[in-house]
Amino acid sequence: KELPADPILENSRRQVPKSAFSIVKPRIPSHPTLIHVSPEVGDLLGISEAELNSQEFLDIFSGSKLIKDANPYAMAYAGHQFGNWAGQLGDGRAINLGEVVHNGNRWTMQLKGSGETPYSRTADGLAVLRSSIREHLCSEAMFHLGVPTTRSLSLMLTGDNVMRDMLYDGNPALEKGAVVCRVAPSFIRFGNFQHFSANQEVKHLRTLTEYTIRHFFPEIKSKGKEAYLEFYKTVLERTANMVIDWQRVGFVHGVMNTDNMSILGLTIDYGPYGWLEGYDPGWTPNTTDRQGRRYRYGYQPNVAYWNLMQLGNALYPLIEDAAPLEDILNSYATIFTPNYLQMMKGKIGLFEEDTNDQQLIDDLEKMLTFTETDMTIFFRKLSDFEVELEIDLKGKYLDFIKDAFYDISGKKEIVASAWQDWFEAYKVRLTKENMTAEERKKEMNKVNPKYVLRNYMAQLAIDAADEGDYSKVSELFELLKQPYAEQVEHEKWFAKRPEWARNKVGCSM
Ligand code: AMP
Ligand code: MG
Ligand code: MG
Repeated sequence: KELPADPILENSRRQVPKSAFSIVKPRIPSHPTLIHVSPEVGDLLGISEAELNSQEFLDIFSGSKLIKDANPYAMAYAGHQFGNWAGQLGDGRAINLGEVVHNGNRWTMQLKGSGETPYSRTADGLAVLRSSIREHLCSEAMFHLGVPTTRSLSLMLTGDNVMRDMLYDGNPALEKGAVVCRVAPSFIRFGNFQHFSANQEVKHLRTLTEYTIRHFFPEIKSKGKEAYLEFYKTVLERTANMVIDWQRVGFVHGVMNTDNMSILGLTIDYGPYGWLEGYDPGWTPNTTDRQGRRYRYGYQPNVAYWNLMQLGNALYPLIEDAAPLEDILNSYATIFTPNYLQMMKGKIGLFEEDTNDQQLIDDLEKMLTFTETDMTIFFRKLSDFEVELEIDLKGKYLDFIKDAFYDISGKKEIVASAWQDWFEAYKVRLTKENMTAEERKKEMNKVNPKYVLRNYMAQLAIDAADEGDYSKVSELFELLKQPYAEQVEHEKWFAKRPEWARNKVGCSM
């Protein structure tokens, strides 16, 4: 078909009724430069190391040139934001460049920050360097942690400035613009289904559902309503397990709106995310959510459930019977609860069954909150616990784990006696295990990362990059490729957040 010829008209923001997507062209940056690539993602797409460093790569993944015969597009979707229906949203600053099939796998390549689309609403379609570094580093770190996620191929500067904040003197603060190329089998979200459903476009809702099943859920062999229900059930399971992985590594997404929920159960949209430092179920990195704290760490499982309920509502017109949808939704707890327990048991090295395990985990979570305890360090060091260790009230046994506590100066005895009961119970419970201490340590270290992208670490990389020094981006990228390995030469990153970085989370937009 004829494509619209006028790039201004085709990219201009507008309501796009009766549409699933709009053809758009990426904005041409004035002076694009490559900051960093992920060779692993290049591999997925069949792009060699030499090609990653070519002019053509720079041209395509900065948005300067289109891939031959490609028709880039922005998707329409809708969604609930912070619990309220927000209506039509869409790819406001994301442009799908095209798809590649390589080694039998299908990948969509999507630029983020390459200018206005019809769905940009009041914003500019651009991304700043700091948020792009955060997205690039965190996507890949999550992948290497074993958490389902969208990937990031490349991080580029556009050479253009972006205006974000106004200074007191009325002048705009200009920031460097950047573009990231995200990669995933598909970027379809819960919100794409909500978009058609809310507009009573049942025919399109069905087409989208069948397309999604055909391409991304090949294990579903049934047809019609039965297939749609199986699809819903699979999305529910994948979403529950994704959140369990988040809880395992201490990742807080920060904007779990239904437009940020991938239908494939991938972590998507690295905006105001953050990592737990002190273990605190009430912590959220989203400064606009501090009041409601809807998106706090401990609430993520509930929000996932709430979002799945909205997906169920969106699929209702295809089923026309609430009961089977409700049955699936109600299975959330029966999937989540045992899987979560299993995951937490793995973190503390328990592989046998015991009726008190749930209690032991509940008590541990209480204790971790009671003393400000660094989550990553605590679980990593716990594998050094020796059953033979004599627990004494003076707190000597705490020595092996003391680095995990934030500030216990002057409180050491209180902390020690508070933890006493838990460690006693843990010690007894460990005697029911069949592994040697060494085997247990090995297993625990597979699920308890030593290195995560602590909020201040990303910030240090951003500050250096702002000055034109990208070495920290590369250093962290390499470090986070092996989050479970010892990497003794990088011991400085296995440390508590420095006090200056308390409550500082890099910003998202
Ligand atoms: P988010 O909270 O990041 O999921 O964004 C919510 C909606 O706003 C999505 O539809 C985004 O595409 C859109 N959006 C966010 N930032 C921008 C921007 N700088 N320009 C245009 N649209 C944006
Ligand atoms: Mg989003
Ligand atoms: Mg976002």
